[in-house]
Amino acid sequence: MAASFQTVVRAVVRISPSISYSLRQLKRTSIGICPAIRPLALPSHSLCQAVTLQDEAATKETEALSRYKDRPWDYMESEEYIERYGAHPVWAGYRRNHKGGIPPQKTRKTCIRGDKICGNPCPICRDPHVIIHHQNVKLLQQFISPHTGVVYDPTRTGVCMKQQKKLVEAVNTAQDHGFLSFQIPYVDFAGEDYSNGHDAVGVTPPAPSLTSADDWYKWYGEIAPDEKEVAQVRKTYKAYLKPGT
Ligand SMILES: [Zn+2]
Repeated sequence: MAASFQTVVRAVVRISPSISYSLRQLKRTSIGICPAIRPLALPSHSLCQAVTLQDEAATKETEALSRYKDRPWDYMESEEYIERYGAHPVWAGYRRNHKGGIPPQKTRKTCIRGDKICGNPCPICRDPHVIIHHQNVKLLQQFISPHTGVVYDPTRTGVCMKQQKKLVEAVNTAQDHGFLSFQIPYVDFAGEDYSNGHDAVGVTPPAPSLTSADDWYKWYGEIAPDEKEVAQVRKTYKAYLKPGT
């Protein structure tokens, strides 16, 4: 491909020096901008620019993502956040699109499949800065009822099932690590020592002695084996049985 390009350039140089100059310029700029598509210098110049523009957009996006990626809780106090949500939780005012008057019993499985984002992504999927993390306490608190401490149902918040699962996991982790407070049933501790109170860990009672000829279990004597089976067993183990038994 490069060789054919060189021959084309040479042919054009022969035809006119002015065109050749512009061609050289084009070639140089294209090489400077986009080395990946070097052999296709002339026709791909505009394409190359488009590619670089796309790259810039992508890098901007990744920069925006990485801005709060390491510290997602910083976003919850940023001006950007206050401007967008004010004092409301992230899910306030979100309405799911659904057919008919009755909303579905479950939210959608996920909003982002690969690089495809659905038309009406859930409150967490629609904002790339809202990142679920067990240290992102302010975000987690928005999804927990202040009265009962229960995580809101996804049908209330509109969060998709994938993010809801992450959310519940993050809430549990946060509670384990002490970032979130939660209530446990009150137990009045009287200071008694229960360590040996239970029979399982207490002093072992002495074994009941078998003085009489009684069976260990009373129902042992009531069991009468089938004579046929006994005869068969006796026959099988005849060689091993003591004489007289
Ligand atoms: Zn979602």
